[in-house]
Amino acid sequence: MTPIASALLGLVLGAGLGALAVWVWVRRAMARSAGRVVERQHLTELLAPLRAAVAVVSDSDAVLACSTFAKDCGLVRGSTLGPTEVFDLVAEARTHGRPAERDLRLPPGPASPAVQLAMRVVPLSNGAVVVIGEDRSADLRFSETRRDFVANITHELKTPIGAIGLLAEAADSAVDDPEAVHTFLGKLAKENRRLNELVSQIIALSRLQAEDPLLEAHNVDVTGLLESSVARCREIADAGGISLSLVAEPGLRVVGDADELETAVTNLVQNAVAYSESGARVAVTSHGVGDHVEIRVSDNGIGISQADQVRVFERFFRVNTDRSRASGGTGLGLSIVKHVANAHGGEVTVWSKLGQGSTFTLRLPRSQEGAPA
Ligand code: ADP
Repeated sequence: MTPIASALLGLVLGAGLGALAVWVWVRRAMARSAGRVVERQHLTELLAPLRAAVAVVSDSDAVLACSTFAKDCGLVRGSTLGPTEVFDLVAEARTHGRPAERDLRLPPGPASPAVQLAMRVVPLSNGAVVVIGEDRSADLRFSETRRDFVANITHELKTPIGAIGLLAEAADSAVDDPEAVHTFLGKLAKENRRLNELVSQIIALSRLQAEDPLLEAHNVDVTGLLESSVARCREIADAGGISLSLVAEPGLRVVGDADELETAVTNLVQNAVAYSESGARVAVTSHGVGDHVEIRVSDNGIGISQADQVRVFERFFRVNTDRSRASGGTGLGLSIVKHVANAHGGEVTVWSKLGQGSTFTLRLPRSQEGAPA
């Protein structure tokens, strides 16, 4: 073979080997990236349903996979992490080569409420990190509610206790004036009643939150229940010049705790009377609607504004504190009604218009025994 021929052959062979090497490299690279795609897909499937905000982040800060919640709460935006605090945490974990932790509050997004996350960033060997945000919002809400509740109870108890102390002192220093003593003692008895009412409502509410009333469930006759509630409010309605009527569909029954249901209906009727002027009408009715029973308490009293309607079921919320106090109200009546309704698998709703009146509807599942044939 001539030197040129062998050079050409070498060139051809060299080129062939070179081409072969490139082909092998490309195939490997393709396999590697295909593998990464498959891995990423698996990772996404794995992470998506998690209830925590979890993201796997590459060494160049690209989010490779994340849970759906991580996107919903704003931890991940597009293909990168959202909040700057999380970038700081990632940098800290990479620098020290160990997990970095902190609590993080994310503001509400267009489709999600604010969330409180317990963050932990764990570094991996190749510069990638795993970002984990455990949702602590419910714990936070619970402790805030408990704190508010305790603050409200303390405030509400202080008022009658303070008044009882002052009235006792006033009665003591008026011993020479029997009429004044009589007036002070009358007021003292009224404050004492308020204190009693408040304490028993707080106890009722705590019991409702702790117990399942359906464990002690019986078939409850709705007509009997409404008659008892109306009878309990008759005297106060008469005294206020308010007419109180009851029209009950016969034969309706619900399953539940009769005492708690009676308390709920009584609270609604008491409110209807308390927030109506003399000459007003309060009507209590019951109807079977499909597999439910609807108990309605309507009045043509002062009504509730649209803005306040969403808050009236909150504990201690009152539209007009003075009017509520004057009628012996504690601000707990409707939250008790709501708890009783929920515990019985039902709900309570309100329709109202300022100056026209209100209708509260208690909707409860009908017992099999009372269901239509
Ligand atoms: P309260 O002991 O103050 O009556 P509730 O929890 O029973 O507490 O009711 C909360 C607030 O909702 C009341 O203070 C009152 O402002 C309003 N409310 C309830 N029922 C009626 C009603 N039938 N008409 C007008 N306002 C009402």
